[in-house]
Amino acid sequence: MNTLVLINLGYIAAAVLFIVGLKMLSSPATARRGNILSSLGMLVAVVVTLLGEGIVEYQWVVVGLVTGGGIGVLAARLVAMTAMPELVALFNGFGGLASLLVGCAALFSSGGETFTIVTIALAILIGGLTFTGSIVAWGKLNEIITGRPILFSGQRAVNALLFLVIGAATVMFCLDPSNTTYLYVVIGLSFLLGVMVVIPIGGADMPVVISLLNSYSGLAACAAGFAINNIILIVAGSLVGASGIILTKIMCKAMNRSLVNVLFSGFGAATTSATTFEGEVKPMTPEDAYYVLEAASNVVIVPGYGMAVAQAQHVVKELQELLEGNGAEVVYAVHPVAGRMPGHMNVLLAEADVPYDLLLEMDTVNPRMETFDVAIVLGANDVVNPAAREVKDSPIYGMPIINVDFARTVFVLKRSMASGFAGIDNPLFFRENTRMIFGDGKETISRIIREFSN
Ligand code: NDP
Repeated sequence: MNTLVLINLGYIAAAVLFIVGLKMLSSPATARRGNILSSLGMLVAVVVTLLGEGIVEYQWVVVGLVTGGGIGVLAARLVAMTAMPELVALFNGFGGLASLLVGCAALFSSGGETFTIVTIALAILIGGLTFTGSIVAWGKLNEIITGRPILFSGQRAVNALLFLVIGAATVMFCLDPSNTTYLYVVIGLSFLLGVMVVIPIGGADMPVVISLLNSYSGLAACAAGFAINNIILIVAGSLVGASGIILTKIMCKAMNRSLVNVLFSGFGAATTSATTFEGEVKPMTPEDAYYVLEAASNVVIVPGYGMAVAQAQHVVKELQELLEGNGAEVVYAVHPVAGRMPGHMNVLLAEADVPYDLLLEMDTVNPRMETFDVAIVLGANDVVNPAAREVKDSPIYGMPIINVDFARTVFVLKRSMASGFAGIDNPLFFRENTRMIFGDGKETISRIIREFSN
């Protein structure tokens, strides 16, 4: 069998492993195995690629492998669980940058065919904007850059102009690829475009941006795959691109926005609400909360980003079992954008072995919210903010939320009256049926658990 046939067979095997692995990720029961299968697919893809005749110097491949692998291992080991979304944003960005570099490298080996040049231009363009867009998203998630929309007058016109210039520069580059000025202009403008597209997007819309950038990183890889005529890069890039777009659609639905609206929302003026909320805050101790929970027959737990910060997933599972032992029905209501990355809460609850059938989606739990004696809001804020339903000038107005305020009693477990990621006040805290239980989420739940054991 000649090497080319072997490589192509290897690529087919890798593609099958990717697709089966991806399918298995759709259920928590098979997700772990799916991940291993996909990694195996990647290993096969890397090994057979190394057999290719196009490799001139193995030393540099080894240097890249050791450096990249070393950084990857360190990053994965050292990163705190709460910083995982930021790491994912960076991975997207570097995926984009890698495609840009592959595109540039392909320029030197291409024979100048129009199709190849167009795919090189696309790899550079999409890769570049994915890179800087992801860096800005990383900064926003990290709160190095403000989560609020960054707006300036004439932004719409500047962006429209940028689109025109980048379009023209890309066409010029395709017509005359040997002129490096066009290449540098396309690279520079794609970097600028990534920044300009993401800065005006405010806190609550970030989930859509993150999943869209994820999709872009796939599309850039796919274009790079066409540029260097590498089948597995085309397949893997298309899979990431397509699944990222599906995720984007799911996130759009969760935010009640159309994709077109989100794609161009950066060019409109986002508003911040002028409405402030006042009223009496009714604090409660975990010990008093225990008496209410002890008498409850139906409890819904709504986790949010604070559960990840407090690492409270294990103690909350313990509380769930104590409540069940006490005869109560306990379910979890998981909002699609809770936390800081898609599926964030599902991952944490799965880590604590919470049975998956106890996790209810917003549409299932909301119609029966009145039947719950207690809703425990554990480090969630934006995803339970009634302003999304009631306050027309709120930036999150129209976003579907988990209607915890319809439960008989609401316990809000957080450290202070501070706002969530979207940076907006929450009238829930002042509701008649709300009790604020201030403190670290894990500590609060542990104190309630201690009362159960006394
Ligand atoms: P929020 O960011 O709205 O609120 C989290 C709350 O957790 C804070 O108000 C904070 O209050 C509290 N908290 C922090 N640390 C602790 C702790 N140790 N113990 C107890 N509470 C704590 O989270 P939600 O999950 O409700 O909403 C997610 C937000 O993030 C949405 O705006 C969403 O759009 C955005 N987002 C989501 C992404 C995704 O893909 N899921 C990606 C990017 C953004 P306090 O400081 O008082 O304790």
